[in-house]
Amino acid sequence: MLYQRSSQLFAEAEKVIPGGVNSPVRAFKSVGGTPIFVKKAKGAYLYDEDGNRLIDYINSWGPMVLGHAFEPVVHAVTEKAKLGTSFGMPTELETQIAALAVSMVPNIDKIRFVNSGTEACMSAIRLARGFTKRDKIIKFAGCYHGHSDSFLIQAGSGAMTFGSPNSPGVTAGTAKDTLLATYNDLQNVKNLIDVNRNEIAAIIIEPVAGNMGCIPPAEGFLKGLRQLCDENGILLIFDEVMTGFRLARGGAQELLSINADIVCFGKVIGGGLPVGAFAARKEIMNYLAPLGPVYQAGTLSGNPLAMAAGLAMLESLNNDTAIFQRLEEKTAYLEAGIKKVLEANNVVHTINRVGSMISVHFDADPVVDLKTAANGDNDTFKKFFHGLLQEGIYIAPSAYETWFITDALTYEDLDFTINAIDKVSKTL
Ligand SMILES: *Cc1c(COP(=O)(O)O)cnc(C)c1O
Repeated sequence: MLYQRSSQLFAEAEKVIPGGVNSPVRAFKSVGGTPIFVKKAKGAYLYDEDGNRLIDYINSWGPMVLGHAFEPVVHAVTEKAKLGTSFGMPTELETQIAALAVSMVPNIDKIRFVNSGTEACMSAIRLARGFTKRDKIIKFAGCYHGHSDSFLIQAGSGAMTFGSPNSPGVTAGTAKDTLLATYNDLQNVKNLIDVNRNEIAAIIIEPVAGNMGCIPPAEGFLKGLRQLCDENGILLIFDEVMTGFRLARGGAQELLSINADIVCFGKVIGGGLPVGAFAARKEIMNYLAPLGPVYQAGTLSGNPLAMAAGLAMLESLNNDTAIFQRLEEKTAYLEAGIKKVLEANNVVHTINRVGSMISVHFDADPVVDLKTAANGDNDTFKKFFHGLLQEGIYIAPSAYETWFITDALTYEDLDFTINAIDKVSKTL
């Protein structure tokens, strides 16, 4: 495959955009080479600026669960655009999508729409702090909750010490209120709560982790967190930006039968437009301005194009009773196929999967947290990534990313992919 025009476009972009990209993971830093510039996409396929067709396993990092340029979304957005693109005034559409989301997701009464997953998580934390009148939060190493200051924190020398910022620009004052825990380690969370009794407002977690590859919660882990939160007056926040409207109609709460106190959304909920949201039962949501004292706002929040896209997306998911079963079956088929060819070619690996989230790790040991995720062989991943690209398959350009399966994939696409992985495996 040729990437001449993409290379040229990247060189031009680098002159005027830092690193040539508007979000760092797009830059191919961890796999080498230059990013591919996309021209258009339809269904399961991307078409790049050099005229290559790629089977897409990123799907805009999750939103395109029903495929690219999904007809109901395209229709809704184009029709709405003719009526005006932003008003800064309430519209009926906002109530329609809010009512539908509340009906699909368990355990929530009200929802507030924002413009990104980052904003959703940032606002959820502020609401939790205001509601509990406490300052500290617990997050888990390897979980991503967007790029707001409170979340860009990693541990100091031990889990009991205060966090130190891992990006310049995050102040020590902010970092000290974020406590870092180990995913799937309940005892570690208990210890943090013991040391910081009556100071912790919330525990925020990806109920199925997707930002260190896919890592399922261990048996009893989320139930244990729920119990610890109940015993200690702590709010449990599920960051369902990846899992929401993907793992089930009601997201991970429904799939895993655990209730969270606040739930964050992004990605699928906007159908490919910039949308995030956070939701909770009414006692908590009524604490938000203008009803309550916690301030949160947005000039473009509830934007008509974004809400039209999101509503078309949620309606399609809600009306298609077999969608989550189909996604499960397709991804299970892919998993079995990949496992078979990697084993046949003696490639050391671990595959993690929950529903339509799947990741391949080049390490034999179970991948259960950030530390075990980091054990994977990155050189093998780089070869795997570039090998698949040559075969016309686009996976995320980082070993720490989940693949997001779309319903637009056919079984022929999956077979093509498994054959390509067989071929590439022989070169690893
Ligand atoms: C993508 C993601 C975010 C951030 O969402 P943006 O829309 O990129 O700001 C937050 N949490 C999780 C779990 C995510 O996967």
